[in-house]
Amino acid sequence: MIKKRGLLIVVSGPSGAGKGTICANLLTKKNSIYPSVSTTTRKPRKGEIRGINYNYISKEDFEEKIKNNQFLEYAKVYDNYYGTPKDFVLEKLSKGEDVLLEIDIQGAIKVREKFPDGIFIFILPPSMAELRNRIVNRGSETKESLEKRFMAAFQEIKLIKKYDYFIVNDKVEDATRNLVSIIEAEKSRVVKNVDEIIENFRR
Ligand code: 5GP
Repeated sequence: MIKKRGLLIVVSGPSGAGKGTICANLLTKKNSIYPSVSTTTRKPRKGEIRGINYNYISKEDFEEKIKNNQFLEYAKVYDNYYGTPKDFVLEKLSKGEDVLLEIDIQGAIKVREKFPDGIFIFILPPSMAELRNRIVNRGSETKESLEKRFMAAFQEIKLIKKYDYFIVNDKVEDATRNLVSIIEAEKSRVVKNVDEIIENFRR
């Protein structure tokens, strides 16, 4: 069997585009992918589980971790810090596992500088009107933070040029299927696996 190289899969897009739902759905279909659990200073929302959705810590503890270089990347998103734990991601990739990061656009751009071999996927809402509906319906934002997220969305969409793929999230099932296809195609790239393939067929 050819052991394909581990892939760093980075999914981002504006808040409300539905990347969280798509990633959760992806993980039910592909249990070989390891999700990276981010650390944040934001308070848990109703229904969120510590250690599964995020690791929730104080601002002081987060800044300590920045100082100790424990994040692969971190960003301040809507007044809270969010960061990707460095050790987890590096360890999984070094073992040839696939790792999924669901992070904001600033973070994804920073990861791209360190991992140009990663695949960077941008989730788009079907339209701006639909994006607004989704943010409002989520009901977890204050009026002010809702407006902030909506205003940021168009600026963020312009950064799509830094990505490899886009997926329009109209129906979650379709969008997830699309994401699975992208991952499978990327895992089958000869250039990323050439040594393994040749070694496997040596007699
Ligand atoms: P939320 O507060 O809605 O869970 O997340 C707000 C934004 O932060 C989302 O766009 C989410 O993808 C992003 N985010 C979550 N974890 C990380 C992370 O570790 N790093 C960065 N840069 N963004 C993150």
